[in-house]
Amino acid sequence: MTRKNPWFDASLSHHSPEGFTNLSPGGHQPGEVKRWRKERKAAGLPLPPAGGYEHFIATWWQPAEIDVSGSENKLWWLGHSTILLRLQNQYILTDPVFSRRASPLSFAGPERRTPIALSIADLPAVDAVVISHNHYDHLDDKSIRLLLARFPDITFCAPLGLKRWLRQRGARDVIELDWWQSVTRQGVVYTAVPAQHWSMRTFWDRNASLWCGWVIECRDCRFWFPGDTGYTPKLLQIPARLGNIDVAALPIGAYAPRWFMATNHMDPQQAVKLWEQLDKPLAFPIHWGVFELADESLDEPVCELQEALNETVSGFSNFLPLRIGQYLTLPDAGHAD
Ligand code: ZN
Ligand code: ZN
Repeated sequence: MTRKNPWFDASLSHHSPEGFTNLSPGGHQPGEVKRWRKERKAAGLPLPPAGGYEHFIATWWQPAEIDVSGSENKLWWLGHSTILLRLQNQYILTDPVFSRRASPLSFAGPERRTPIALSIADLPAVDAVVISHNHYDHLDDKSIRLLLARFPDITFCAPLGLKRWLRQRGARDVIELDWWQSVTRQGVVYTAVPAQHWSMRTFWDRNASLWCGWVIECRDCRFWFPGDTGYTPKLLQIPARLGNIDVAALPIGAYAPRWFMATNHMDPQQAVKLWEQLDKPLAFPIHWGVFELADESLDEPVCELQEALNETVSGFSNFLPLRIGQYLTLPDAGHAD
């Protein structure tokens, strides 16, 4: 059975007749997945964090406290790639995952190593949700259903190919975009941007739906959520086309072993390089601290990030590791457009 990409546009290099292709060529050779699994098992990876899980939680986790009376632009990192963003008094969630496992199964698959920082019941009224791609650590069936049960009118911004899935779960307002397409809601502009990644939910839908990052901006602030992405200089097309990034959430986890993971996930050193190339905006690391998806231990990404930042020339850094649950006040960059 051949699959057809209903959005296929031969003039776009990331489209193929069957689905979508990566930003930069490359990808895994046959047998590499097997080799990785075998080596991971033999070495007993990932190892627990230094000092153990309890110590990690005590160091890197706190409950999120949302002061809904405030109105300044702000964000709360809820762990992994889930961020609650308040922009112009709109509450926006990125890749909401509140479940115990990032898996299609309730009894198997990567399990949360740190508690949730905020439950769905304690969220302020959510206006919009952006989805980067359909991997289980980013698109969680149960979380989406619970969110819709509480907030049936949420606007979903998703890459091409996920509308049907979201509508089947009751979402009424779903905007499906290709890279570089935008939509505006309540003065907030959402632009789907390229990412070096892939998609897969089941054995037969590899790269059938698109993956993307999101630039979310209002008058005062331009925020970039890259979703999952490997490092490629092509990511710099994003500030070149949309303007300087004021705040970036840069993924740093799921990079080991690098020979296998580097195509689709940045490591902390690459995140620092990208941050420097972006002219050092306010930034914080995401995609770490919750699920053990690769061979590195839970605390390794943030340790490596700190080392990489120490090696930069200036020493000064506004690339700040947040605790899970911690907030960040966003700068007022005053884009007068
Ligand atoms: Zn992914
Ligand atoms: Zn991921």
